Amino acid sequence: MTFRFNTNHSRRPTRYNIPMIHEIFPVGPLQCNCSIIGDETTREAMVIDPGDDIQNVLALLRKHNLQVKQIVITHAHIDHVGGAMKLRAATGAPILLNENDHALLKMLDVQAAWIGVPSPGKVEIDHSLSSGESVTAGSHTATVLHTPGHTEGSICLYFPAERKLIAGDTLFAGSIGRTDLPGGSIQKILQSLHHTLLALPDETVVVPGHGPLTTIGEERESNPFLVKR
Ligand SMILES: [Zn+2]
Repeated sequence: MTFRFNTNHSRRPTRYNIPMIHEIFPVGPLQCNCSIIGDETTREAMVIDPGDDIQNVLALLRKHNLQVKQIVITHAHIDHVGGAMKLRAATGAPILLNENDHALLKMLDVQAAWIGVPSPGKVEIDHSLSSGESVTAGSHTATVLHTPGHTEGSICLYFPAERKLIAGDTLFAGSIGRTDLPGGSIQKILQSLHHTLLALPDETVVVPGHGPLTTIGEERESNPFLVKR
C-alpha cells in the first residue's frame, strides 16, 4: 500500500503536503513488515528490514522507479536482516545497523536453525547507526532512536515531518517485543518505550515489525504494557 500525506495537522508550515512513497509488505515465513520509503521527486529510496523475498522488494523498487541509497535494519534478527546482503548485491546500497547487535549477526546460523530456514550466510555492517543520527530517502529524513530491550542494538526510525515511526520489534499494536531471546531485557525495553517512544506525539503513525499499523496515542491509551496503573 502507498500512503500519501495530504492532511495538514498543524498551523506551522509543514511538509505534510509533500507526498512520500511508502510501501509496507510482509516478507518471509515470519511475515516481517518490510518498508520501502521513496522520494517522488528525486526517486531516491531506503529499504527497511528486507528480511526475505528480495525479488518482491526489487519488483516494487522497479514499479516506483526508485534507486536504493540505504538499507536500514532495525535489529539483527534473521527475519529482519536475512535478505540484506542479497539486496546490497543487487543495488550497491550500504547496510546500516546498530553495532550492539553484532553478536546476534554472528549467530545467524543459530537463528536460522531456531525457525527452520536456511542460513542467509554472513551479513556485514557497512555503517553502525547510533542515536541521533539521520537516515534519508531524498527529502525524507528519519532520526535514529536507539531503543534497546528486544535486542541490545534495536533501533526505531522517526520521521518527524511525516509523523511516522518505524518501530521494528520494540512496539506492536497492543503488545511489545519479546525479551526472552539472547540480548533481550524487559527493563530496557520498558525504559525505551516509556522514555523514548512515548515521548513522541500521539498522532505518530507506528509501523511495527510485524502485524497491523497503530499510533502512539492508541498505544499510550490501551497497550497493556504501557498504560499507567
Ligand atoms: Zn525481532
